[in-house]
Amino acid sequence: MPPAGPEPEAPRRAGSRAGPLALHGGVTLLWLLAWYVARVQEYAPHASLWFPPAGVTFAAGLVLGWRGLPGVLLAATLATLTLADGAPAASPGTLLPAGLAFGLAHGLSYIAGARLLLHLGRVRPTPRFVSLLLVIAPLAALLASVSGLMVLVAFGLIESLALAGDLVVPFWIGDLVGAVAVGPFCALLLGAAQSRLGLEPAELFTAHRQVVPAASGRGPLALKLGLCVLPAMGAAALVRLWPEQAYPASFLVFFGIVPLMWVAHTEGALRTYVATAALSTAIAGLGSLLGPGQHGLTFQFAMIILAGSAYFGITVPALYADNRALRLRLTTDSLTGAATRAFLLETAEREVERARRFGTPVSLVVFDLDHFKRVNDELGHAFGDAALVELARRTRGELRASDLLARPGGEEFVALLPMTGLAAAVEIAGRLAGVLRSVPVSRSGDQRTVTASFGVTEIEVARQESFEAAFERADRALYEAKAAGRDRVRVAPAPD
Ligand code: GH3
Ligand code: MG
Ligand code: MG
Repeated sequence: MPPAGPEPEAPRRAGSRAGPLALHGGVTLLWLLAWYVARVQEYAPHASLWFPPAGVTFAAGLVLGWRGLPGVLLAATLATLTLADGAPAASPGTLLPAGLAFGLAHGLSYIAGARLLLHLGRVRPTPRFVSLLLVIAPLAALLASVSGLMVLVAFGLIESLALAGDLVVPFWIGDLVGAVAVGPFCALLLGAAQSRLGLEPAELFTAHRQVVPAASGRGPLALKLGLCVLPAMGAAALVRLWPEQAYPASFLVFFGIVPLMWVAHTEGALRTYVATAALSTAIAGLGSLLGPGQHGLTFQFAMIILAGSAYFGITVPALYADNRALRLRLTTDSLTGAATRAFLLETAEREVERARRFGTPVSLVVFDLDHFKRVNDELGHAFGDAALVELARRTRGELRASDLLARPGGEEFVALLPMTGLAAAVEIAGRLAGVLRSVPVSRSGDQRTVTASFGVTEIEVARQESFEAAFERADRALYEAKAAGRDRVRVAPAPD
């Protein structure tokens, strides 16, 4: 079975004016929601294990490019206004420009990173794309943290440069965790929104949707997602019940990797982004229970490693799917499903070897449709194609499973018949001639059919004859059949 292709695209509505505006609003809302999640999960004022808005901004860059900036700017400004409590220079007159400047520093850093990622890596979920993501996201996060902190110092929201210096690494890591753990998930949400709004969804969304692993959808999705967050939830419960053993208990989060890989290998890219975001949120929640401390870094490390592994995990089924598609293309003719010339040669070599070893015969039936050009000329090339498909299907139906039907080119076919001597092959050729003649090839329902001319021979395996030599002999017999008036079988006896 060929791998299932992407679902057919729904027809796109003409881009409505509401579309992009709703999308910008979506970026703002998602950013504020992510900001809220981080605030809820703070273990100390303005200190959380992660900064998920970074993921939203990175996603906006991946999906919308620079057009993602206004939505981010608005959200960052609104979020900064909520800092009024406790900040030293917190008058709305300062916060508004500070928020805008912070939003610019943050937005430009991530969107530039996202543009670079799109520029350098084809968006298909390949190991190269994931590696680039894991290199570019830290650089963008570093730039965002340094420039964002400079803005906060400039506007007096952070007292001193020295304090800002102390905050660079925590900001950087928190941002990075947010960008890596939920960036792809947010890109998926924005891509789905684009699709919903009748807009052309970003390449990231479409390319990642097409990854359908071999074991697609095995096992209930809700169970898998539940299992992904279960270890972190279990750890949180243990922390509550058994505070003195909190840190060893939190080691449980490690086991989230198993269901996460299950999702990555069976559910495809998009669901893996959902599972990674869910697992990261659960771990950040656990971190907020545990409070500050050196272990915060361990959790951040765990979140990045789990997300990175999940993304690399997706590339495995993607590579399998690519390999399967390539192999199919190499071995199977895409029109008729018959074997290609290359696969015929490969199989014939193996069969001749086997026949030589076991002393069994191998025969060849080569046939070419008669006056097929007329079918194309009179009924159209597309009709000719459809006729070829049907004729190949019917021919296949006459052969054994161990035989191979190949279409080396045009309207010429070859049946490779292992364990078959010349007399049986001639009989099979006769049968094929009859079957072909019974397939109607007409638009108007009249009795028009096509015939074929056949060349048959047995490969002289005992005399070390090669497949190619026997094939040439059968081909010559086929042309004798053509010359003798077509619609007949000619046998090429073995050379003396
Ligand atoms: P004959 O073999 O009996 O001498 O006549 P013919 O008309 O079949 O042979 P010819 O070699 O002159 O032309 C072969 C034609 O087969 C040319 C082309 O239109 C048609 N053909 C070859 N491959 C395909 C294909 O993939 N699709 C379609 N529709 N037609 C094909
Ligand atoms: Mg022909
Ligand atoms: Mg031909």
